[in-house]
Amino acid sequence: MSKDQFLLATKNAKKRQELKRILQPFDLITRVEEEIGLELDDVEETGLTFEDNALLKARAACAQSGLPSIADDSGLEVDALGGAPGVFSARFAGQHGKDDLNNQKLLEELAGLPNEKRTARFVCAACCVYPDGRERLVGATCEGKIAFEQKGSGGFGYDSLFLPDEIEGPISNKPTMAQLDDLEKDKISHRGKALRLLAQKIGEKL
Ligand code: IMP
Repeated sequence: MSKDQFLLATKNAKKRQELKRILQPFDLITRVEEEIGLELDDVEETGLTFEDNALLKARAACAQSGLPSIADDSGLEVDALGGAPGVFSARFAGQHGKDDLNNQKLLEELAGLPNEKRTARFVCAACCVYPDGRERLVGATCEGKIAFEQKGSGGFGYDSLFLPDEIEGPISNKPTMAQLDDLEKDKISHRGKALRLLAQKIGEKL
């Protein structure tokens, strides 16, 4: 296998799509586990930070596959909830990856809060771990507000409740992240920003 293949260390289908799409313009070949005939072990996300968890996932995938491995760990920080759900974003309502329940819980927790107190951000830590032990780690955010109701069917997770600051317009008819098309989301998203930074670092081959 040639050296410039990178394993995307995630089992989340929507995230994979985004990672592949964002990294597509760069001069690197991305693979997912099925494409290299491997089933990645589940990694317990025991880290206290996005950075720790991204590194845990990429180190495990690299050790198992022998390939440079790219992972991201991401989530939503809501100011009115003291930064929660943060690293627990995927399991906010108790069960891993239940987007509908997570969104419902978020709306309940913020019930009655006015618009100006609904500030939040998506956070992404992204890293690449190489078989020779080198590690590259970057991070980025996307600022916004939590809407009063879900809108849109694109994306995943909390996208249907997230009103990005970088999309202009009055709050009353601003689109949620789930109403943007793929390219619009990638341009402003925490994952888009972090992965472009990471691709740049990988390209520097330092
Ligand atoms: P991870 O797989 O541990 O990184 O968990 C990420 C969780 O954070 C997801 O399950 C979503 O709930 C949330 N999340 C992360 N990135 C996004 C995004 O781009 N849109 C919406 N929700 C996201």
